Amino acid sequence: MRIVLEQTTLAPPAEVHVVAVLGEGVVAPDAPILRADDLGALRGDGIFETLHVRAGAPWLLDEHLARMAGSAARLQLALPPEAELRELARQAVAAWPAQHEGTLRLICTRGAESGSAVTVFATVGPVAASIRKARREGVAVLTATQGFPADLRGSAPWLLGGAKTLSYAVNMACLRWATASGADDVLWTSTDGYALEAPTSTLVWLEGGTLWSVPAEATGILAGTTARWLLDHAGELGWDAAERLVTPAEVIDSDGAWLTSSVRGVAAIRTLDGTPLKTSPQVTDDIRNVLGFPS
Ligand code: PLP
Repeated sequence: MRIVLEQTTLAPPAEVHVVAVLGEGVVAPDAPILRADDLGALRGDGIFETLHVRAGAPWLLDEHLARMAGSAARLQLALPPEAELRELARQAVAAWPAQHEGTLRLICTRGAESGSAVTVFATVGPVAASIRKARREGVAVLTATQGFPADLRGSAPWLLGGAKTLSYAVNMACLRWATASGADDVLWTSTDGYALEAPTSTLVWLEGGTLWSVPAEATGILAGTTARWLLDHAGELGWDAAERLVTPAEVIDSDGAWLTSSVRGVAAIRTLDGTPLKTSPQVTDDIRNVLGFPS
């Protein structure tokens, strides 16, 4: 069943914010829940998932929990059983006003440096105005190198390709660099000339009636849950779906390209390195409807 969320386009009051701790349930939003030597805070040593909350429920919870388990395995992290994480998500989302869309984060750090179990908590907050603007208006994107070839991470597990780790300082720096350069987002490239992914989203593009994405396993990009769901439903839009490597020049020449992610949903790429793309607003709306996001 698909639910289109017209009633949730307004953001809730800024003070609404939910925090829930594994085994404790919902706590005060300003309750101290991390020790000063928590390795998540000290080293970004941990994993997380970000989910869209719609009609009072997390979207694609199974897929996110499966990816979180994969991230934990890559980091050799003792993630609690799935049933406990599911209950944590349920508790957090139950405290969120169901008429508003929201952002659910599930976080698991390695725990205290002095030795402890993992630290696990969840937050629910509003969808930022900048995210809703990108849904409506699309994004101007700049390419930026990641400094390694496309196939490096596939054969270098210590680089944690495919894991959604808490070490997002570089990702956030890329977005600040894009903003400072007059753009909205970044498309990471490899040293051998391929487009990979964006710091918080997956590249998809339309070419020859096929919706394409970049293969995750071979490149070490994050396997996007939103892109996977969209490619699995591409038939509803009359398209085939497939994966391949792509260059930025091919993205520019495509019939349209988008960045997909759990909370933003779909953002049309308006320009890449200043060159306009053929991305059609109508097709963007069609994709957004298939994904069930408000505009
Ligand atoms: N790639 C990266 C690096 C991300 O951080 C994200 C989302 O956070 C994505 C892709 C998109 O993944 P998803 O659609 O599961 O949100």
